[in-house]
Amino acid sequence: MRIDVLGVGFDNITMEQAVAEGLRLSKTEGAHMVVTPNPEIVELCREDPALRDLVNGADLVLADGIGILYGAKLLGTPLRQRLPGIEFAQALMAALAGNGGKLFLLGAKPGVAEEAARRLCAAYPGLQIVGTHDGYFTDDAPVTEAIRGSGAEVVFVCLGAPKQEKWIAAHGAETGAHLLVGLGGCLDVFSGNVKRAPVAFQKLGLEWLHRLLKDPRRIGRMMKLPLFMAHVAGEKRGK
Ligand code: UDP
Repeated sequence: MRIDVLGVGFDNITMEQAVAEGLRLSKTEGAHMVVTPNPEIVELCREDPALRDLVNGADLVLADGIGILYGAKLLGTPLRQRLPGIEFAQALMAALAGNGGKLFLLGAKPGVAEEAARRLCAAYPGLQIVGTHDGYFTDDAPVTEAIRGSGAEVVFVCLGAPKQEKWIAAHGAETGAHLLVGLGGCLDVFSGNVKRAPVAFQKLGLEWLHRLLKDPRRIGRMMKLPLFMAHVAGEKRGK
């Protein structure tokens, strides 16, 4: 069941269910897409109906940000829990490690995906990372061929939103992979280049504040958050 937040439908499931479904899709013919929208993406979807349709067409739509949970609650249709993309990725890797799943890491600056692969192989014994590629390419064909040649079943696509969602929709099927997950800046965290917020911030739903303090250039992007809350309030009044 999906819960609508300003035109984007979020799967109302637990992390266990999300991972089980991700694992099932990774073994199922066809190219399946997982997206993890935050309020910023919902606002982009409001401005771009084609992007909204693409996001709603994903096989799993996970509520990444605390803002989405607030929005759903204010609209009177609360979601069960927050499903941060990075935690979904970690739980999926643990599951893949246990059953020989093959993973490809795509995105971030040159060298970052390789370093992330080294660390992840150590953290998840049994995980097969069958290839990596940076996210700053102009020609798609060599990238899709590299993924196809690697035999990857799952690809973490970390190009930032909405580039990664558009890339998966346009090229996912060419990769031969069964599950493509849009994960923003996760490779920067997995490589150790960027630290996730301390647990206290995470628990208080203030991870966004930590990211803003670490990288004040994000302020422009984050101005979409009050806009999102204003749109939620407007929608609530209209109900
Ligand atoms: N990135 C990329 N190719 C691009 C633009 C961005 O690989 O053309 C990468 C960038 O290096 C970073 C990630 O995409 O690793 C985006 O990170 P950000 O923290 O902005 O994503 P968020 O999680 O906020 O969506």
